[in-house]
Amino acid sequence: MEKEKLDYFKKLLEKLIIELESTLEANKETTETVSLDDSIGRLSRADALHAQNIALSLHGNIQIKLKLAYQALEKISKDDDYGICVACNKPIAEARLEVMPETPLCVNCSR
Ligand SMILES: [Zn+2]
Repeated sequence: MEKEKLDYFKKLLEKLIIELESTLEANKETTETVSLDDSIGRLSRADALHAQNIALSLHGNIQIKLKLAYQALEKISKDDDYGICVACNKPIAEARLEVMPETPLCVNCSR
């Protein structure tokens, strides 16, 4: 990939990382343990646990995305085949990288 394009995707990734980290920070409170001896009723405790589960799975997805974004950024800084699918070794479409610059897989391999 050309250097100008690499610089462009590097900026996208850096922006993405900042966004993901601030989302994780904002979600911190929701993912903290729901206290079992809360004086709230059974139903609302179930609701609270439910909300916590959703927040936790969202949290997990963001962490995975963040990890991929760091790996992609490392590839760019090491000039190590950024934009090449790790499964089939073919170039990942730039339109796809625009939307998810962190992806290590082309559209065919991600299915
Ligand atoms: Zn592929």
